[in-house]
Amino acid sequence: MNTQTARIEEVCSHQSDLAAYLDGELSPGEELELEMHLAACRSCGDELNEQKKLLQALDYALESDRKIELPANFTRVIVANAESRVSGLRRPQERFKALFVCVALFLLILLGFGSEVKTVLYTFVKFADQLLAVCGFAWNLFYDIAVGTTVILRSLSHRVVFHSSIFFAALTGFFVVLLLVFSRVALRSNRS
Ligand SMILES: [Zn+2]
Repeated sequence: MNTQTARIEEVCSHQSDLAAYLDGELSPGEELELEMHLAACRSCGDELNEQKKLLQALDYALESDRKIELPANFTRVIVANAESRVSGLRRPQERFKALFVCVALFLLILLGFGSEVKTVLYTFVKFADQLLAVCGFAWNLFYDIAVGTTVILRSLSHRVVFHSSIFFAALTGFFVVLLLVFSRVALRSNRS
């Protein structure tokens, strides 16, 4: 008996009749048969309860939907609300939030797309990385040259007539050429 009940709960053909039963589409004989079965079958009883709940929720939703009445100035209120929200964007903090949301959306879109975008993103990151590396190298070079020049100038200023504008122009020119040459070398070494 026990095994038989378990088998009935497992595969119960009566569950397909439950919707028709709730809608009152069954004949009196079928109804009686199903009600007798419901007294014994827990699986069908649970299923019936679930379907009843769903119907009630649906009824409630439709009922409350009917109660919603649009106010006469509905459109005007919506437009005014939207305008005040847009004017709020003029505040810097709001603008930052909007930017943040845009960036987040952009990233989400990127994640949503396939490997193609990933490749583009990877290339971009790689490029940015290389750019940063070049900038860092150039900055280090510039710093070294500046320190070196300062040291040379200090030692020279004791002896040479540093006030001479020609000497200063020549030194500036030499400095610029040196910087250009070194930056080219840096770019070439980074490219390889
Ligand atoms: Zn059943």
